[in-house]
Amino acid sequence: MLKTNLPVLIIHDNVLLPYNDFKFEEDSNSIRKIMTLAESYFNGHLLVISSLNTKIDTLPKIGVIAQIKFKIEMPNGKMKLNIHGISRAKVETYHEENGIIDANISNISSDEISPIESIANSRTLKKTFEEYLENKKSLGNSIVAKIDDINDSSELTDVLVGFMPFNYQKKIQYLEEINANNRVLMLMDDLHYELSLLEYENNIEEKIEYNLNNEQKKYLLTEKLKAIQEELGIEENSEVAKLRKRIDEFDCPERIKKRLEEELERFKLCNSNSPEIGMLKNYIETLLSLPWNVGTRENLDIANIRKVLDQSHYGLAEVKERIVEFMATKKYTKTKNNPIICLVGPPGIGKTSLAQAIGMALKRKCVKISLGGVNDEAEITGHRRAYVGALPGKIITGIIRAGVNNPVFIIDEIDKMTKDIKGDPASSLLEVLDKEQNDRYVDHFIEEEFDLSKVMFILTANSLEKIPSELRDRLEIIQLDSYTVLEKVAIVKNVLSRKLRLEYHLTKDEFNLDDENIIKIINDYTKESGIRELERLLRKMCRKYLCAKVEKNKKLSMNDNLEAFLGPAKYSYQDNYPNEVGVMNILSYHSLGGELIKVESAMYPGVGNITALGYLGEIMQESINLSLGYLKSHAKDFKIDYKLFKENDFIVHLTNNGIKKEGPSAGVSITSSLLSVLLNKKIPNNISMSGEISLSGKILKVGGLKEKIILAMKSNIDTIYLPLSNENDVKNIENIYKDKVKIILVDNYQEIYNALFKK
Ligand code: ADP
Repeated sequence: MLKTNLPVLIIHDNVLLPYNDFKFEEDSNSIRKIMTLAESYFNGHLLVISSLNTKIDTLPKIGVIAQIKFKIEMPNGKMKLNIHGISRAKVETYHEENGIIDANISNISSDEISPIESIANSRTLKKTFEEYLENKKSLGNSIVAKIDDINDSSELTDVLVGFMPFNYQKKIQYLEEINANNRVLMLMDDLHYELSLLEYENNIEEKIEYNLNNEQKKYLLTEKLKAIQEELGIEENSEVAKLRKRIDEFDCPERIKKRLEEELERFKLCNSNSPEIGMLKNYIETLLSLPWNVGTRENLDIANIRKVLDQSHYGLAEVKERIVEFMATKKYTKTKNNPIICLVGPPGIGKTSLAQAIGMALKRKCVKISLGGVNDEAEITGHRRAYVGALPGKIITGIIRAGVNNPVFIIDEIDKMTKDIKGDPASSLLEVLDKEQNDRYVDHFIEEEFDLSKVMFILTANSLEKIPSELRDRLEIIQLDSYTVLEKVAIVKNVLSRKLRLEYHLTKDEFNLDDENIIKIINDYTKESGIRELERLLRKMCRKYLCAKVEKNKKLSMNDNLEAFLGPAKYSYQDNYPNEVGVMNILSYHSLGGELIKVESAMYPGVGNITALGYLGEIMQESINLSLGYLKSHAKDFKIDYKLFKENDFIVHLTNNGIKKEGPSAGVSITSSLLSVLLNKKIPNNISMSGEISLSGKILKVGGLKEKIILAMKSNIDTIYLPLSNENDVKNIENIYKDKVKIILVDNYQEIYNALFKK
C-alpha cells in the first residue's frame, strides 16, 4: 500500500469527487500557503477533504487526491482556482503545523470489477441517465458527448454524480462509498427516483401551464365558438336574431328583402368594436322603417273635399275650385298621377294649412318639410353612406315620418333654396317631382329605388319669380292674394273665433269682438298679408281674458278694452306726415304685403345733379333719372322754367329705409313729387298713383292692383290714378273695394298734370 503525505484543503459546503472540477475564489492566507506548498512540493497535488468543521480529530477519513488545474491572481486581490479531482484516498493520519494540515494517505483498493461488468453497468447507467436528461431539459445534451467515451463504471458514477442535483449529504455518501458497484446501484436507484420526481414535476407544470393559458384562452375560444356557431347558423346573438325576425316579417319588395339580408350578414360578421357596425345597424333600421308597401286608401269624394276645405278655410274660392277640379279629373280619368300643386303667395295666408286641409279631405296622411335656406343637394337626396353621420335626405325622411307611401307631402318655401358649390337643390327636387322617373327615386343613403309616384306633392312659395324656372314648368301654380281687411274680418268671424272659443273654452259672450274692433286690430296692430299675426294677437287676448277671470274673477270686455289687451296701437295709417311740396304717397306692394311709403323731393342751388336715397334697387334709380329726364324734355308742357334744372341739384328720398325698393311702378309718383317741387305746388295727401312712366309720358301697366287698392283703403287714400292698360284687371276687382276708392285710369302723365297741377 502506497503511502504519502499531501497538504489538505478543507472545503465546507461542497464535495469534490474524482473526475470532477472544483472552482472557487479565495483570499485567505492559509489557502495561499496550501496552494504554494502543493505547487512547490507536490507537483500541484493536494488532498481535498469535504467537511463542515476543521477540527483535525473530526475530519473524515476519505478525501480526494486533486491537482491544481489553474491558479490565477485576480486584480481584486483574490485567487481564482480550479482543482481537478483524481481519485479517492484514505487518510491514515492528519497532522497540523502552522495552521496547515497535511494528511498521510493511502490508496483505496476497490473490489475488482470485470471489464464486461463495468461496461454493462456503464451502458445501463448511461441509458437511464439519458432518460433522465430527456426529462431534465435544463441540463442540455452536451453531457451526453462527455460521458459517451467512459466505459469504466467507477469513473462514470463519479462523473454523473457531479451532474446530479444531489445535496451535500448525498454527495458525501457517494464520496465515501468506495465500492464502484455499490455506487452504480446507488446511482441507478437515485436516477430512478429523480426520474419519477421529474415526471411528477412535469405533470404539475403542465397542469399549471394549462390553467394559466386556459384563463387567457377562454375569452378567445368562446368568441371563436360564437363566430363558428353563428356561421353555421346554430345560434345567433339576440340582436341579430331580432333583426332577422323583423326582416322576415317585413312587408317590402323582394329586392329590398334580399338587400336587408345581405346587410344583416355584414352586420353579423362585423367586429363589435368597429364603427361600421353602427352604420350598418342604422341602414338596416332605415330600410325597415320605410313604408315600401304601406299606403292609405284615398278618398276622392268631391263633395267631402269641398266641405273640408270650406270648413277649414274661409274664402279662397278660386283656389278651392281649382283643387276640386284637379281631384275631379283624377277621379274621372282614374289616373294614378297626382298634380303637383304649388301654392304661391305672401306668408300667413293659409298655404300650408290649406295643403294640410287637402290631405285631410283626401283622407291621406300629411307630412311637411321646409326647403328654406337649403343650399346643399344632399339635404334632399341624402348623404352617401361612406360619410360619417350620413343620413337619408329630407324626402325619404319625410316618407318615414308619414309611415305611408302615398302621403300628401308639403314642401314649404321652394323659392328660398339657394344654389352654390354644394350643388343645385332645385335640380334634385326635379328628380323627386318628375313623374317620368319618381317611381324609381334613389336616395343616396338608401341606395335602393323607392316609388314616390303615389305621393301627392304640394309646394308653397312666397314669390313666383324666385321659383327656379326649370321647376316652375312642372307645377300647377295657384296664386293666393293677400287678404283684404274685410276678408280678414270674415275669417275671424267665421273660422278663427270658433277655433279660439273651443281652444280656450270661451263663450260667445266672452269672445265677442265686433267688426269695428277686429278692423282696428287689423289696421293698428298688424302689418301683414295673411292672418298669422292677427291670430297670434287674438290668442294673446284670450289668454289675458282668462288670466283676469281666473286671477281677479274679473270679466273684461274685449270690445271695450282693446288697449288693455294689446297695448297702444303699433301702426296707425292716419299718420301726420307733413303734407308739403314734393311729398307724394306710394302704394308699395311686396311679398310681406302692402305698405304705404312716401316719396319726398327737394331742390337746392347746384348744377343739375340728382341724388336718390332710400335703399333703392337699380330699377328704382333708373326710374328716378327717367322721371327727371321726362320732366326736362317736357318742361314747356308743364310750364317749368328750364333754368331750374341747370341751377339746382335735386334729391329724391323714399321713406322706410328698412325695405328695399325694387319695382318700377313708383315712376308716376316720383314724377309727381319732382313736379310738385319744380312748380312749388302741394299734392293732396288723399291721392296716390301707380304706374311706370316712359320718356313720352305714357303710363305703363303694373301688378298687385288689388293689394294696392286694399292698402289705399286702410291708408285713408280715396283716389288712385292707375294705368289705362290695367283697365281689365280693374274690372275684375270686386266692387266692394272699388266702391271705397275712386280709381282714375290714365294713359299719359299729361292727364295727371292736368288734374293735379294745371289749375
Ligand atoms: P302660410 O303657409 O301661407 O304661411 P299658414 O297656412 O301657416 O300660412 O296660415 C297661417 C294661419 O292662418 C293658420 O293658422 C291658418 O289656419 C290661418 N288661415 C290662413 N288663411 C285662412 C283662411 N282663409 N281661413 C281660415 N284660416 C286661415
